[in-house]
Amino acid sequence: MERKIILSEKEIPDKWYNIVADMPNKPLPPLNPGTLEPIGPEALAPLFPMELIKQEVSMEKYIDIPDEVRNIYGMWRPTPVYRAYNLEKALDTPAKIYYKYEGVSPTGSHKPNTAVAQAYYNKQEGIKKITTETGAGQWGSALSFACQHFGIECEVFMVKLSYLHKPHRKVMMNTWGATVHPSPSNATEIGKKILAENPDTTGSLGIAISEAVERAATNDDTKYALGSVLNHVKLHQTIIGQEAILQMEKAGDLPDVVIAPFGGGSNFAGLAFPFLRLNFEEGKSIRCIASEPASCPKLTRGQFRYDFGDTAGMTPLLPMYTLGHDFVPAPIHAGGLRYHGAGVIVSQLLKDKLIEARSHDNLEVFEAGVKFARAEGIIPAPEANHGIATAIAEAERCKREGKSETILFNLCGHGNFDMKAYEDYFAGKIVKHELSKAEIDASLAKLDTPLIP
Ligand SMILES: *Cc1c(COP(=O)(O)O)cnc(C)c1O
Repeated sequence: MERKIILSEKEIPDKWYNIVADMPNKPLPPLNPGTLEPIGPEALAPLFPMELIKQEVSMEKYIDIPDEVRNIYGMWRPTPVYRAYNLEKALDTPAKIYYKYEGVSPTGSHKPNTAVAQAYYNKQEGIKKITTETGAGQWGSALSFACQHFGIECEVFMVKLSYLHKPHRKVMMNTWGATVHPSPSNATEIGKKILAENPDTTGSLGIAISEAVERAATNDDTKYALGSVLNHVKLHQTIIGQEAILQMEKAGDLPDVVIAPFGGGSNFAGLAFPFLRLNFEEGKSIRCIASEPASCPKLTRGQFRYDFGDTAGMTPLLPMYTLGHDFVPAPIHAGGLRYHGAGVIVSQLLKDKLIEARSHDNLEVFEAGVKFARAEGIIPAPEANHGIATAIAEAERCKREGKSETILFNLCGHGNFDMKAYEDYFAGKIVKHELSKAEIDASLAKLDTPLIP
């Protein structure tokens, strides 16, 4: 049996899969925060190009991938699926473990799958500049790379904690021509206000989003791009799972369990949604599990209700699992997972029990990541370590139950820019951190947005 399962370039899928077409309960509409009336797609026009807004609300089951986008995908896609023989041996498990490796992209994660598509549609509509936020630096890098390809200017607000921990991510973005600010910054009104109230804040994704949105909303030739959470972002990522289905067929296997780390839901959606299609269409019962940090547990301990997507309350109200929009997660190293809410589609799927969620504490995820690196060689991004922790937990369950199930997880990025995180782990500076119920209750109690029955 091969260790590495690859597809030919011809086998890059030519359509994205839109799970909304197959969902038994469709996502609830976004609401205007003032009137609490559903908002139409036109409310998003100041921020996003029309084609992406159409995708955001589309009910079409498949959407064509433009040739130009597919050609750029060809630089690193199809990405490989590996069978983790050495990890299986290290765990002494009867389970078969596979992983889809998205770290082979030019920027080191799954993020360019949507960055390239978003930059393409902005270019088509004559946009000159795109602003965005970045947590771990992965999204900012991906958008910088994509914008550079299409000759669009790129301005990135990078969560200050990551800016300080990962100076080389900033230089990477600069190399592709982007401007990078530590967030909160003095470049925006909301940034100045937050700095005045709390000069020592390490920032959060919610704050950085507010800064990037303010910038786009106040400039005509500038749009905003989001690297996760929104429906069109998840749509673009489904290239991952569609390839993975072909690869698992090639391996003569089908996963019983599909696992991915969870920040806003894009890499989870990307791998899991095409497998959920098999559940919907063919009556399969593939379990799909999202893995989140115990210090930012919106799926496992948050509330399903309307909330803002950003800290300042500039976005529409979205129906999602949330910890409250001004929740500032502990400064863990997995910056890409430090977001207060979950994407709308994934939230509805969880509410309907069509997917599952697990949380892992900080220490457990680094133990899992180092175990993986020692068995399989690749050093994973700290975010990816959450998925690995769930995969290991499932493989251990298989051992206890004497079952040889097939597990597939998304190794959504490499950790080559995350040595500070590993250094802290080896120095014993990474400690168990779990939120208390009182902390979660206090954050949710501040919300006066509508609950969903
Ligand atoms: C951004 C990122 C995440 C979290 O975002 P999702 O939208 O949930 O995928 C996870 N892992 C890596 C490597 C990332 O870059």
